[in-house]
Amino acid sequence: KEAGRNGYHLFDPDNDRKAQGHRRTLERLRQALEQGEFVLHYQPKVDLADSRVFGVEALIRWQDPQRGLVAPGEFLPYIESDPALERALGEWVLEQALTQLERWQDDGLTLEMSVNLSAHQLMHADFTARLDALLARHPQVPRARLELEILETAAIADMAQAIAVVRQCTLLGVRFALDDFGTGYSSLTYLRKLPVDTLKIDQSFVRDMLVDADDRTIVDGVIRLAAAFNRQVIAEGVETLEHAFALHSLGCRLVQGYGIARPMPAEQLPAWLQHWQRQSAWRALAGQAC
Ligand code: C2E
Ligand code: MG
Ligand code: MG
Ligand code: MG
Repeated sequence: KEAGRNGYHLFDPDNDRKAQGHRRTLERLRQALEQGEFVLHYQPKVDLADSRVFGVEALIRWQDPQRGLVAPGEFLPYIESDPALERALGEWVLEQALTQLERWQDDGLTLEMSVNLSAHQLMHADFTARLDALLARHPQVPRARLELEILETAAIADMAQAIAVVRQCTLLGVRFALDDFGTGYSSLTYLRKLPVDTLKIDQSFVRDMLVDADDRTIVDGVIRLAAAFNRQVIAEGVETLEHAFALHSLGCRLVQGYGIARPMPAEQLPAWLQHWQRQSAWRALAGQAC
């Protein structure tokens, strides 16, 4: 509610209702965190050269007792409006992902773990110190197994801070990937200064690369860029074997997408890995690879 220009009280019932709804949703999300209703699902990442599953990406979901599983796109925008909640959730995600990595390790499963960071998380002054403390609580996990995904757009928004944080965290031993790469138009100068290990080609380009020559050109360009700058490259949104073939022929070995597996609860991963090892089509691709 704002005071009007003439001292009149401008009251827009529609806006007011929206604001109330927003507050209620935030309250509900805070409660969800307290009551342990958030879960991480894990999407496998595969190296086409040998069809090996080398890692997973942790993706958050909200297990709402009323509505069932809610996708991050539906609740993260609310959470981003509350810095304290966003931080608390971000720490929960990191803690949960490291705990899971440790469990898998105990079961003899060696995987890399990618965790998405919000723009604010990265920009927070004490992020590095908090990450350091978190890693210290999981001394068995080799730090290089943890990869932090930051959005290309977030990195460009405050490049100086992004460079500083990525540098500091790299010294701690963790690695970085630039997520949704290609959507933010970062210049080559930026890329040169930002010590990320991996470029993650945005799924919008990958999805249409078989039918849209421009998208294919962008995918090709990112793959070459990564090679020129000595970075790894991974494609997300790989929905079919044809996508994998195309990517592979352009020189991209690392892939992730529904065509391989949808994100799944941690308990399902071991069984899925067994199933994956029996799948022939992707192994054949690996056979002709490289
Ligand atoms: P992202 O990090 O770019 O993750 C990829 C998204 O694409 C995921 O959606 C994933 O389920 C989906 N995806 C994977 N393969 C395919 C495919 O082949 N086709 C299609 N159409 N989609 C595919 P999800 O899980 O809904 O997550 C959406 C976004 O929410 C993520 O995009 C990420 O930016 C954000 N997010 C998810 N978890 C977290 C988290 O723990 N923290 C933060 N800060 N953000 C998160
Ligand atoms: Mg990601
Ligand atoms: Mg992405
Ligand atoms: Mg995305």
